[in-house]
Amino acid sequence: MSESWKARTRAVHGGTRRSQYGEVSEAIFLTQGFVYDSAEAAAQRFEQAGEDEFIYARYGNPTVRMFEERIALLEGAEDGFATASGMAAVSGALTSMLKAGDRVVSSRALFGSCLYVLEEVLTRYGVEVEFVDGTDLDQWRAAITPGTRAVFFESISNPTLEVVDIAAVSDLAHAVGATVLVDNVFATPVFSDAIAQGADVVIYSATKHIDGQGRALGGIILGTRDFIRKTVEPYMKHTGGSMSPFTAWVMLKGLETMELRVRAQAAGALQLAQALEGHDALARVIYPGLESHAQNDLVARQMGGKGGTVLSLDLAGGQAAAFAFLNALTIPVISNNLGDAKSILTHPATTTHQRLPQDQKDVLGITPGLVRMSVGIEDADDLVADVLQALEKAV
Ligand SMILES: *Cc1c(COP(=O)(O)O)cnc(C)c1O
Repeated sequence: MSESWKARTRAVHGGTRRSQYGEVSEAIFLTQGFVYDSAEAAAQRFEQAGEDEFIYARYGNPTVRMFEERIALLEGAEDGFATASGMAAVSGALTSMLKAGDRVVSSRALFGSCLYVLEEVLTRYGVEVEFVDGTDLDQWRAAITPGTRAVFFESISNPTLEVVDIAAVSDLAHAVGATVLVDNVFATPVFSDAIAQGADVVIYSATKHIDGQGRALGGIILGTRDFIRKTVEPYMKHTGGSMSPFTAWVMLKGLETMELRVRAQAAGALQLAQALEGHDALARVIYPGLESHAQNDLVARQMGGKGGTVLSLDLAGGQAAAFAFLNALTIPVISNNLGDAKSILTHPATTTHQRLPQDQKDVLGITPGLVRMSVGIEDADDLVADVLQALEKAV
């Protein structure tokens, strides 16, 4: 590994550990334990395990370590800890660092399970949590008081694709000594510069773009070596949310092609958003890469103008039109994952956000006509034609 390697080279070669057989594709070390040469060697390893010395797969495993190193190199993080799912990463990162009496400030527009962890779990253990509108810096400024321990947000919200200013919120947090944790799924590792912009901890659900082919659940917590090895690792290895070696292998292979997939998906998403903007059947087309996006300047600064792989369409005819539209599509599938090679459509109000009270749906802009489209790697001309024919049946 050379420091000068660019992202695509890192994504293919970073973190590789070759066995004595010299395999080309990374080996799956499907073992839970490791053999020691002697009793003294076992004692020595428990005292201080070296870089390539493993004890038990819940603590670490060579295949998992390859994945951790490769994604850390891509993100520009010192280290990473791989987890069984994206939620194991979110809950593990927060729980490992917080204690009763700590104060957390979080954006309100969150993935349902993240909201559950902050609102239902952490508060039960005496952590104080305040929610703000993530796009409103005045609300962040008022809420991040001295003594605030952590700040949490999704850098692009689901499903209305509002962008949080990582640099500005990090400045406010660091001024009071708070740790900034960013759930960066919608930005993707490809368009992320979150650590350089001020985030202390970056979290991904690897289930999304990293696998990118709908096969496995996984997650990763990225940060300083100190935070990952002294705060996260002890908590994760003793509470059981570690990634399995087989999953790590799937994710390693996913990383090799992620950059190509995600750039193709984002180009497709932009083409769709541009083709659909102003369509009669649509009240709104939301895509961070469109000039009409309310935070166009921030998208330019934070993501190099790239809008990611997801767009949201608000059908003027409400839920009936949204359902007719979904049912008329022939290429994308109706499902609730995102970041996949296959285009996937979701009706948040009746699925992912079904349980959210109506007043919360209103605050977050989750209207009855809103449809979220995760754009895959299909030919974008085919996708545009399919969406246009389906919209004709949705008026
Ligand atoms: C999917 C997702 C998660 C949870 O990831 P899992 O792998 O499903 O556990 C967390 N945050 C965001 C923003 C997500 O999209």
